[in-house]
Amino acid sequence: MTTLLISDLHLHPGAPEVTDGFVTYLEHTASQADALYILGDFFEAWVGDDILDLPEAEPSGNAALVKRVVEALRTLSHAGTAIYLMHGNRDFLMGKRFADTCGATLLDDPTRLDNGDEPLLLMHGDSLCTRDDAYMAFRAKARDPQWQAQILAMSIPERLALAKQIREQSGDANSNKAEDIMDVTPDEVIKEMTAHGVTTLIHGHTHRPAVHQVTLDDQPAARIVLGDWQPDQGWDIRLVSGQAPELRDFPLDAPPSA
Ligand code: MN
Repeated sequence: MTTLLISDLHLHPGAPEVTDGFVTYLEHTASQADALYILGDFFEAWVGDDILDLPEAEPSGNAALVKRVVEALRTLSHAGTAIYLMHGNRDFLMGKRFADTCGATLLDDPTRLDNGDEPLLLMHGDSLCTRDDAYMAFRAKARDPQWQAQILAMSIPERLALAKQIREQSGDANSNKAEDIMDVTPDEVIKEMTAHGVTTLIHGHTHRPAVHQVTLDDQPAARIVLGDWQPDQGWDIRLVSGQAPELRDFPLDAPPSA
C-alpha cells in the first residue's frame, strides 16, 4: 500500500507551470499509488463550487484551470487511485460538489489515518498557529456556515475581488508579524497529537518543509511538514506501510516514482 500526500500547491491561473507540474505528477507519480491526499491550499483561492458552471473562456482564467484539474483528477480516480481533499485557509469553500466531480472525498481537519500499525494525524496546519490571534479570528468567521452563505450569495466576480482583497490584506499583515507567530505553536502540536493518540503528525501551511523530532510522553515522535509548490519544485510525502514516511522534493518536470 503506497500513499502520497501533497499540500500548498496554491494553483492559480497566473502560475501555469505549477498546474502543468501537478498534471505531470498525477500521470507519473500518483497513478502508481493507492491513494493521494491533498492537505489544503490546493488552490490559491476557491470562491465556490459554482465556478464549475462558468464558461471555460471566462476572463479570470479560473474556470479553465479548474476544468483541467477536474479532468486530471477524474482520470486518476478512474484508474484506481483514491483521492482525498482537506480544506486549507485559502480553499475552505471547496465543497462536496467539486469533490464529487473530481471523484474525490472531502476530509475533516484533522483526520486520523491508519498506516499499518502506526496511526498518523493529518492536518492543514493553520489551526496549529494559535499565536496569530488575528488569523484565528478570521478562521473562526470563515468556518461559520452563515458567513459562508453570505459570501456564496455574491456574484462570482464579486467573490473573486473579495478573495483578492483578503489575500492582499493578509500579505500586508503577515509582513508585520514576527516569524514565530507565523509558525505552529509547539504546545498545540503536543495537544493535538496526544488527543488523537499518534506519534506522527503530517501538515502543510507554514511553507517550512522539514522533519521535526518531537518528544511525546518521553517517547520519540515526529512532525513532518510538507513544502509549498513552486514553478520549478514540488514536495510530497511517500508513505508505505511499515516504513518511515519519506519527505521528498523534486523538479516539477521530472517527478519521482510513487
Ligand atoms: Mn495554508
